[in-house]
Amino acid sequence: MGAEVTVVEVLPRILPVEDEEISKFAHKAFEKQGMKIHVNTQVKALKKGKNNVTATLVADGKTQDITVDRVILAVGIVGNTENLGLENTKVKVEKTHVVIDKWCATGEPGVYAIGDLAGPPWLAHKASHEGIICVEKIAGVKDVHPLDTRNIPGCTYCMPQVASVGLTEKAAKDKGYQVKVGRFPFIGNGKAIALGEPEGLVKTVFDAKTGELLGAHMIGAEVTELIQGYAIARTLEATEAELMHTVFPHPTLSEMMHESVLDAFGRVIHM
Ligand SMILES: Cc1cc2nc3c(=O)[nH]c(=O)nc-3n(C[C@H](O)[C@H](O)[C@H](O)COP(=O)(O)OP(=O)(O)OC[C@H]3O[C@@H](n4cnc5c(N)ncnc54)[C@H](O)[C@@H]3O)c2cc1C
Repeated sequence: MGAEVTVVEVLPRILPVEDEEISKFAHKAFEKQGMKIHVNTQVKALKKGKNNVTATLVADGKTQDITVDRVILAVGIVGNTENLGLENTKVKVEKTHVVIDKWCATGEPGVYAIGDLAGPPWLAHKASHEGIICVEKIAGVKDVHPLDTRNIPGCTYCMPQVASVGLTEKAAKDKGYQVKVGRFPFIGNGKAIALGEPEGLVKTVFDAKTGELLGAHMIGAEVTELIQGYAIARTLEATEAELMHTVFPHPTLSEMMHESVLDAFGRVIHM
């Protein structure tokens, strides 16, 4: 939109919950668009001027002031648990979030909580899914399944878009998995080129022993649409075998999801 943008992140990388490769890719892509990015940097102070704000940034012990038109703060999420009358009830609150069981019930019979108030991930689709589970359980609907937070896709609507589900490569290794990792770049996909969107990456992480898809991480055009394919795969506990045997239509961006799986097992075609 023509605005000059400076991003300040206290952690060593932007999009810190995403896979490290995706985060690096986004960093480069944003810088290419002209954004200034400061990582390992703390905002120490914000001073409001008449028509601007001066931010004091500290990195490596060095202080720097930058003056900007506006500051958008996007740090932390807390539950609004105050003034709800929870004090004299059995509803338990931990770190500003209401503690619930797998059916969204609190410690107080008849009181339920869903969504942001009940804890991470703080996403609209998590909130509405919990709402449905909760109400169905109250109504006595059979075959209600508790929410598996490991299979909730996360989407970031930046340009290029970022989307993921399941474990990052590092998280999988930290959990003790031996992993097989597949990658496929947008530049190898005909539809991406035809769309004029050759910038992006699809990365898949598998359990080397069982072939289970542990996680999928994407950056590029329309990946927030594509991620649902891998979310279904996670819900069905799909392995590389099912994903390889799935037919992906041509020409589509989704073919990259196939290729990334094939790459993890040394069978990539268009690379
Ligand atoms: C800028 C921004 C962008 C976002 N983008 C996305 C996105 O792209 N995709 C995504 O999945 N999620 C996104 N989210 C997160 C998403 O909005 C939340 O996860 C979602 O709204 C949570 O739903 P909820 O019902 O738990 O809470 P809310 O949507 O916050 O609803 C809670 C409601 O309760 C009301 N309320 C509060 N206290 C009381 C009270 N005492 N009595 C009565 N009513 C009360 C509030 O006014 C509010 O209407 C975004 C959030 C922000 C802030």
